[in-house]
Amino acid sequence: MLKILINECIQEVSSFNPISSNLEQFQLNKNNMILEVHAQLITEVSGALNIFDKNDIDVIPGFSARAMSSGGLLPDKDFEFIAANILTSVEDSIGQVDGYYFALHGAMQSPSYEDPEGWLLEEVVKRVGCEMPIVISLDMHGILTEKMCQNIWAFSMLHTYPHVDFQENGERSAKLLLDLIKSKKRPCIIDVPIPALVRGDELITETGLLGTFYQKTDGLVQNNPAVLAAGLMIGNPFTDVLGLKSHVVAICEDKKNIAAIEKQCSAIAEEFWSKRNKLQATTISLADAFIRFKELGATVVFADAADATSSGASGDSNAILEGVLKFDPTIRTLLPILDDNAAANAHSAGVGSAISVHLGGSCDPQFSPTEIKVEVLLLTDGRIDNESHGGIYDAGPTALLKYEGLRIIVFSKPIHLFDRSIFISHKCNPKDFEIVVVKSPHTQFKFFSAWVKDTLIIDVPGATSANLKRLGHKKCERPIFPLDVISSFTPLTRCYQ
Ligand SMILES: [Zn+2]
Repeated sequence: MLKILINECIQEVSSFNPISSNLEQFQLNKNNMILEVHAQLITEVSGALNIFDKNDIDVIPGFSARAMSSGGLLPDKDFEFIAANILTSVEDSIGQVDGYYFALHGAMQSPSYEDPEGWLLEEVVKRVGCEMPIVISLDMHGILTEKMCQNIWAFSMLHTYPHVDFQENGERSAKLLLDLIKSKKRPCIIDVPIPALVRGDELITETGLLGTFYQKTDGLVQNNPAVLAAGLMIGNPFTDVLGLKSHVVAICEDKKNIAAIEKQCSAIAEEFWSKRNKLQATTISLADAFIRFKELGATVVFADAADATSSGASGDSNAILEGVLKFDPTIRTLLPILDDNAAANAHSAGVGSAISVHLGGSCDPQFSPTEIKVEVLLLTDGRIDNESHGGIYDAGPTALLKYEGLRIIVFSKPIHLFDRSIFISHKCNPKDFEIVVVKSPHTQFKFFSAWVKDTLIIDVPGATSANLKRLGHKKCERPIFPLDVISSFTPLTRCYQ
């Protein structure tokens, strides 16, 4: 019976969030607890486990660190704790396993580790040698680096945005790993980097241009028996590290016919480059958004992409709150905001109390708190059913606050806000509101787009602004579009084996 060690290390950071993330924001599990936890979740690991189960593989669960939200840089000691646990499981497995699967995101960053995942994989190979098959799964927003490619046999990535194929991604990785264990042949990874950062509605794979590029890379796999996997990595524009860029990649069985595959990857990269202007976000000023809202006369999502906790922002921006207060606070508006002090005050005062709270800027000093007198409508312990992935979000103590037409949900710990989980758990039906503030650039169609009149990406400040030039990148390799003007692009292929 084949034996495979699995480990998980998943976090996405925004380098522009001034507040460090920390280990408390991770679900940490060891050994068999990993299997129990993932049996309840829709994740890469659960997808991989399905495949391993069907193939009678003896799975050895190592260590799992899974961030419940994104955030600022992870302190070195916290990353080193995760890495040490994973590497211990690797050391314990030497001589006992046939291959390694790592579920990674790819957009981590620590002060001393620009490429934590690449470093970790290099340390794994130092221990197990390069003859041992290693396959990883990545988010399409991961930063694909040379060090990662040099230390793995193959990888798969998410193909959907908003992401719905976590399990399929894990299944793809697991199948790749089983095939490679059987063939014992290390494939080559073809990588065509593109100096472009992309955002906006065209990234929605079901309806937008990015989806057509994944169709092209799927075509590479279907039409070339030697291509085991292919896809695009677009990086997380908010993880400001040297390796940040987009990529077209293909995993090839061997170097036979590689020139033809490289040519096809380069052609896809050139087309991606030619459409780079369309692959940018269309934002709207707050003032214009209120005009548009009045014109539409039905529920509108104000997407606070700049404060997207799932991309690494802090969740404490009050920019849109202040806008609503100034424009017309009687508009029925539903708005979440991270503020542990306000939540604690509401819990001390109790339901039905009138209290004064300061909202906004509890983490990110670029926001100044807004003082507002509110009524406490509801209090919870912040254990929120996660409608996207199953399981529970832990938002810490929360409160639903009322101010005229506004219903403000304050929560104490960052959680993903790309679905309706926080609204449902506070008995707020988004359909009862005129403006719903969603702290994410995009959401699954069924959650909001299926019924709202429009989704407006508001151009307000924040650590994950869709207006990338606002952010002030310092580390990523320049020039890069759209931060710089680049007159021409000639694809240069890299090949790792
Ligand atoms: Zn992603």
